[in-house]
Amino acid sequence: MNSFSLKTFGCKTNQYEGEALRELLISQGLEEVTEKVHFFIINACSVTAKAEKEWLKFARKLKEENPGSLLVLTGCFLPESALLEELKNYFHLVIGFGERNNLPEFLKSETVGYFKSNLAVFEPLTVKAHKGHTRAFLKVEDGCHLNCSYCIVPLLRGSQIRSKPMEIVKEEFLRLLKGGFYEVVLTGTHLSAYGLDYGLKLTDLIKKLLNISYPFRLRVSSIEPQEVQDELLALMKDDPRIARHLHLPMQSGSASILKAMKRQYTPEDYLNQVEKARFYLPDIGISTDVMVGFPGEKEEDFEKTLWMLENLNLVKVHLFPFSPRPHTLANHLPQINRVIIKERMKRAQTAADWSLNRYANSFVGKTVEVLTEKKVEQFYEGYSSQYLKVRFPRLNKEKALIDNGGEEERERKLGKIHKVIIEKITGNYLEGVVKG
Ligand code: SF4
Repeated sequence: MNSFSLKTFGCKTNQYEGEALRELLISQGLEEVTEKVHFFIINACSVTAKAEKEWLKFARKLKEENPGSLLVLTGCFLPESALLEELKNYFHLVIGFGERNNLPEFLKSETVGYFKSNLAVFEPLTVKAHKGHTRAFLKVEDGCHLNCSYCIVPLLRGSQIRSKPMEIVKEEFLRLLKGGFYEVVLTGTHLSAYGLDYGLKLTDLIKKLLNISYPFRLRVSSIEPQEVQDELLALMKDDPRIARHLHLPMQSGSASILKAMKRQYTPEDYLNQVEKARFYLPDIGISTDVMVGFPGEKEEDFEKTLWMLENLNLVKVHLFPFSPRPHTLANHLPQINRVIIKERMKRAQTAADWSLNRYANSFVGKTVEVLTEKKVEQFYEGYSSQYLKVRFPRLNKEKALIDNGGEEERERKLGKIHKVIIEKITGNYLEGVVKG
């Protein structure tokens, strides 16, 4: 009766919370299983219509295939929607944010019902590890006080900024390092707003973590472009333990579209922020999000986005076709034909590949630090500090050992940093050899 299986959809913050819930349930005596599951827990994501459809489909399939099991819904789902009425037929328990530290008790007592999110508190969840990951995510902030016209996140996670106290972050960070993680990724709904509720800044938190004398790599996930402070760049420049990478969501290269999106910068501002980041760290990896097909996007608007992609030498571009979300301003705007959006997505992908190729080529002959994440055929694979995907060959004797089941040898290599000299670009990988 106390067995569960938990599946998380969506972003790093949701992945972190899924891991925290998993650990919490196990610590309270519930058993994680893959068969004869009593509680199926879905940690949902509803940032796009596609994401929502995915977990809904998963829920329906679970219900059909496991009529005797109980389904639990949590994470990002639309509250008070017609959908929720339907969901109550599927889900035994629907539990929003803020209450989930009571989840073990709710399951043990087979509590039925719908517990609304309390979006005024920072949920006291922490993690000790990150099952199946070589990089650990560490959620430090929740909520977003901005109001981008296409975005449903403030509705799902609250518009009030809630930050995890610095001391708790430091303890959790140290626990992850002592648990064998070398890289920790700071994450949040609006990470660069960290500390607003305490009169602190994200850089205050980073300085606190940099006081820890332990080998690690700290990666800062997404930063709003208008919030890239010189102080952050100076910290990154001075301390090589901070990954040379910033994720700055651009969304569009057109001033009129950015205005309609209610983004807080112009294309010129964005270019200046990237230039400023490269002034401090010439080899910094800049990744971004681009939304294609926002209502009113004309061909000339889209070409401005292509120009940015082709000229910014970006390490990674996440492309999203516009997805109208309920309760957002953009939901009421005349939508662009999906065929046009599909065609533009292809052109944007070509521009993004071109951008990566130009950036990656600037590393041929140089040495980068790669955190190995997995073994693929005769290679080890991982990410560099700049967030470049790098492969390097496994040594023959090592390969022989591993192919004969030398698990121990393999374990020793994963999750470790290797200095790799880049020799060539193959597709969207950099290939090289271990230095020395
Ligand atoms: S900054 Fe904009 S896009 Fe990002 S979570 Fe907030 S409202 Fe959404």
